[in-house]
Amino acid sequence: FHGTSHRYVSQRVCDYLGRDIKTQRIITCHIGNGASVAAIKGGKVIDTSMGLTPLAGLMMGSRSGDIDPMILLFLLEQEKLSAQQLSDVLNKESGLLAISQLSNDLRDVLEACDRGDEKASLAVNMFVNRIAQTIASYITDLDGLDALVFTAGIGENSALIRSLVVQKLNCLGLSLNQAANEQGQLFIQNSQSQAKILILPTNEELMIAQDTMRLLEFK
Ligand code: AMP
Repeated sequence: FHGTSHRYVSQRVCDYLGRDIKTQRIITCHIGNGASVAAIKGGKVIDTSMGLTPLAGLMMGSRSGDIDPMILLFLLEQEKLSAQQLSDVLNKESGLLAISQLSNDLRDVLEACDRGDEKASLAVNMFVNRIAQTIASYITDLDGLDALVFTAGIGENSALIRSLVVQKLNCLGLSLNQAANEQGQLFIQNSQSQAKILILPTNEELMIAQDTMRLLEFK
């Protein structure tokens, strides 16, 4: 699903750090309307939050992410939803949209937070919590961390979400330079941070073009 993006930014981060990917423990966060996190050790993905479908893992704009599986049976039995209705609820009517009861677009939800809307605040808290929990579990998978990367619509553009996520990871030794974060600089960790933290624009089109070239053996 977001594999192309995770691969692109994990390679770029090593270019910027001047380090060999084979020596690096990297967590890439593709946070847009769809969202996923990947743990990359020595250039190989060892865990990622999406599953058989993009529904798994993080809470997203309109996807639920991971939920108690018994909720599906409850909706089938109690609400008499068909399989198609169930799929629509989970994929198109959940996530930020359902919790905020406003929008799947984070900008709308953040605006509502500024107006003191409690459901919007709950949606943002849940969204941030799930991202931070996933990063924390991947730090244990990787036995530490060299670089954390934020990419995609929210990862690249929302200083607030990056700040709230990293704040929850202070206890694991990650911390931000708030000014660099606000300015959207490439490196946004502070001098105490145990790992580099970067904002990197993704470029899935370039990766696809390069893969196509390789497959066609032009390169
Ligand atoms: P994507 O799917 O990668 O295009 O990302 C779309 C998401 O990025 C939407 O939820 C937008 O609200 C969010 N987004 C884009 N720009 C900003 C911004 N400046 N601040 C907060 N969220 C943003």
